[in-house]
Amino acid sequence: MTERRIKLLQVPPPLPPRWPMPLDESIRWVSPYEAEVDRLVEIFFTQHAYLRCMEHAASDLQHEIGGALVGQVLDDVLADARYVVIEDVIPAEHTEFSRVHLTFTQSTLVQLNNTLEDHYPDLQMVGWYHTHPRMSVFLSSYDAWLHRNFFREPWQVALVVEPYRGHGGFFPWQPDRHLDPRAYAGFYELADLQEESVVDWINLEPVQPEPVLAGETDFWEIEEYRP
Ligand SMILES: [Zn+2]
Repeated sequence: MTERRIKLLQVPPPLPPRWPMPLDESIRWVSPYEAEVDRLVEIFFTQHAYLRCMEHAASDLQHEIGGALVGQVLDDVLADARYVVIEDVIPAEHTEFSRVHLTFTQSTLVQLNNTLEDHYPDLQMVGWYHTHPRMSVFLSSYDAWLHRNFFREPWQVALVVEPYRGHGGFFPWQPDRHLDPRAYAGFYELADLQEESVVDWINLEPVQPEPVLAGETDFWEIEEYRP
């Protein structure tokens, strides 16, 4: 009997909820490396979370700052795709930084997990973000180490923001635990606040046109993405 009980406890965790990807309510942003990133998840970033993240990122242009991305993990059965929806951010406390380096301490991870449990009981930590003021968008060897050790789930993503010029990009896990520290991906901007985009990163390109406003007669051509 004891053995049977132990076997019951080894049941794998439940699969993510099933829900179609909210493509109709989203604007797709692609990076120059889009075709190179064989991601395990598609990334939806709500406008609310994007603006909160950018507000935090712009609050210090001298040091690296960061935090957690919180949201949901879902499965689109028809598209055979897993995706995350980033709904909010939790700025990290107790970080240590020099001018070019951010370190999440043990206290940082405890604070992020406590805030998640207290304020977002239905959400998960779907990744983390940090800034690279006046640098490019990449993962340093320390960033990759941190991601490999604390964000191991295949649906957890790293976001790097360059707040000075307005660049940003995501680093998702790729098959066989591959993490490319240079080639970053874009995302789907989930229009939870307004139809018009709020994204101001200049290193990404929108795939779909801005929606035609009522009363406008201009004909909008669909921009095709060419790598
Ligand atoms: Zn970094």
